[in-house]
Amino acid sequence: MNRSYDVVIVGGGPVGAALAVDLGLRGVSCAVVERRTKLSDIPKGQGLTQRTMEHFFFWGIDQELRAARTMRQGHPIGQLTVYENLMGEFWHAPPGREVVAPYYFQANERLPQYRTEEVLRRRMADLPPVDDYFGWRASDLDQDATGVRVTIEKDGEVRVLEGRYVVGCDGGHSMVRETADIERSGTNFDQVMALIVFRSRELHEALERFPPRSTYRVVNPELKGYWMFFGRIDVGEGFFFHAPVPPGTNADDFDFAALLHKAAGFEFAAEIDSVGFWDLRVRVAEKYRAGRAFIAGDAAHTHPPYGGFGLNNGLEDAVNLSWKLAAVLDGWGGESLLDSYTAERRPVFGDIGENIIAAGIYEERRFLETNHPEPDPEAFRAAFRDLADGFGRKTRQYEPHYDGSPIVIGPPGALTSARGAHVFRAQAGHHLVPQPLSDGRNVYDELGAGFTLLALGAEESDTGALEKAAASVSVPMTTIRDTFGGGRESYEQRLILVRPDQFIAWAGDTAPDRPDEVIGRVTGRT
Ligand SMILES: Cc1cc2nc3c(=O)[nH]c(=O)nc-3n(C[C@H](O)[C@H](O)[C@H](O)COP(=O)(O)OP(=O)(O)OC[C@H]3O[C@@H](n4cnc5c(N)ncnc54)[C@H](O)[C@@H]3O)c2cc1C
Repeated sequence: MNRSYDVVIVGGGPVGAALAVDLGLRGVSCAVVERRTKLSDIPKGQGLTQRTMEHFFFWGIDQELRAARTMRQGHPIGQLTVYENLMGEFWHAPPGREVVAPYYFQANERLPQYRTEEVLRRRMADLPPVDDYFGWRASDLDQDATGVRVTIEKDGEVRVLEGRYVVGCDGGHSMVRETADIERSGTNFDQVMALIVFRSRELHEALERFPPRSTYRVVNPELKGYWMFFGRIDVGEGFFFHAPVPPGTNADDFDFAALLHKAAGFEFAAEIDSVGFWDLRVRVAEKYRAGRAFIAGDAAHTHPPYGGFGLNNGLEDAVNLSWKLAAVLDGWGGESLLDSYTAERRPVFGDIGENIIAAGIYEERRFLETNHPEPDPEAFRAAFRDLADGFGRKTRQYEPHYDGSPIVIGPPGALTSARGAHVFRAQAGHHLVPQPLSDGRNVYDELGAGFTLLALGAEESDTGALEKAAASVSVPMTTIRDTFGGGRESYEQRLILVRPDQFIAWAGDTAPDRPDEVIGRVTGRT
């Protein structure tokens, strides 16, 4: 039996499930095709940023997600860097994501990806517009000017799902990306990494020499800038670990316990639960759209899990694409809204992959080649501290924005990238910072599913001009009227037009000369 949907999503991993939730909440009918029936028990994708937690808030499952964490409540989330091995004399525990906490509406969280996926899948199952096809593999795809056809197979049965659009959330080996002929490029370090999941109470006890942290990064001159990296799954005995291994290593003929002991600097008892491998390379698709086919998450970008960017950015892809698809399907979004998905999301990940992750590896390699504890251990201690502190600096600078987007009215000639500055000022192309309203609620509590106009002590005629322009082309927009005070003055703008994904489309003190042109541009109609 063939079925027809607005959107067919291939891949029901975290990004596919999140896209289905966001589209389902917007009333868009969608099918999620996922070949697996059981979740993977690899505890990857653990670090969820404050921004990601805002998505879970809007999906109505932030509390459920926090309840699913495996580390005990209150255990700090953050990284520690140590030289040579975990027993090393030189270590530093810089502040973590808390340095940017005031700029987001939610605190960050940490839990294994399979737990996150369970929460997303439960939410998905509650949404009538979403059908799941678990256990089905998407084997082919074709498209024409009016729609797409996705062939799916299960136990010899073949069906075709029709859709207006297809989104490949089908991971690094994406069938959708390959069928749509989308190329990828990026730095290849030609290095195989092992991922070991293990349990050890002895290691947990040894880590009590440090302040409480959730990840422990070992840097060592032998590693050429690559990391040996321990992450907690719980606080007691569960860990994952990744480290470079020689080419050709396989799970049966390598002493993984010895690798763990080397990184730890002492021998300890450990139960190894699983061993896997991944390639240390960055790969970003040249575009995220080909006609009616889109790609999101690992299908669009893969990279070493240094810094925990993968899942967080995959979820941001889903949120960026969802409102645009819904707007076009609803008739108020123009075709160029769909092109803006590549224009906004691709440069962000290009910057992360090359200028943050790959450049970070080269930078650390240089540091470790030129700095040594001898002959001056105190000078080395200071330099090492500075290196580890670089993480805090990078956290402050990590502020993905769409300055160069064709659908925001930002500074002329600006470029979209992952690096900016966390500021309270409302800037077109940037994430809206939360602020309290006079009634004690937060701006974030009031943001709607469509556009929101924040009118803070603005002239009624200016507010009305934008409202009229939006209403004349049926663009859903709600207005929040409040005073220009109580913290809201730190936006430095009296009128702020916020997109459905909480990014600012336009800001000013008075209405623009041509409100219709602003509304046309930010909805991709002109
Ligand atoms: C060791 C490690 C640690 C990590 N740590 C972090 C972290 O701290 N923070 C972070 O943000 N990210 C992290 N990541 C990255 C993160 O795990 C990935 O970015 C994330 O899994 C991407 O989700 P996805 O849904 O795009 O792809 P996937 O998780 O790969 O899901 C794709 C889904 O598509 C399905 N599928 C594929 N092809 C088909 C088909 N033809 N038909 C039907 N179904 C199909 C697959 O079965 C799968 O379920 C880490 C990764 C690793 C390896």
